[in-house]
Amino acid sequence: MDCIFCKIINKEIPTEIVFENDHIVAFKDIHPKAPTHILIVPRKHVESINHLGSEDRDVIVEIILAAPKVAEMMKTKDGYKLAFNVGRKGGQIVDHLHMHLLAWPEDDKEAKRKEVAPI
Ligand code: 5GP
Ligand code: ZN
Repeated sequence: MDCIFCKIINKEIPTEIVFENDHIVAFKDIHPKAPTHILIVPRKHVESINHLGSEDRDVIVEIILAAPKVAEMMKTKDGYKLAFNVGRKGGQIVDHLHMHLLAWPEDDKEAKRKEVAPI
């Protein structure tokens, strides 16, 4: 399958992985939209939130459960944003389900604007 995130998960493409377990791989976004911008990606190839089946409950739970672990590792557990883009109109460009974890330093003057900006 010609999927960039599957290739990253399978270590066919070198990427800065920050956390991984049996269910997910978390790595730095290549074009960060925040000082901390990590993508939390399930090992299972599911296209988007719209493509989740009832058999995929664990997929979504494992993505969410990874967030505080990743935030802790990135030293942003005191505050971060989680986002899913769904479909082209929702800003999704990679068709392998992923959650964005974004964080800005406390003193980032742009943070207020970014809080509402789409990613
Ligand atoms: P989307 O817009 O689909 O929700 O987010 C996809 C994200 O993947 C974008 O923020 C983009 O910068 C990131 N991305 C795309 N290709 C690569 C890649 O090859 N490596 C990494 N680390 N990130 C990527
Ligand atoms: Zn994939």
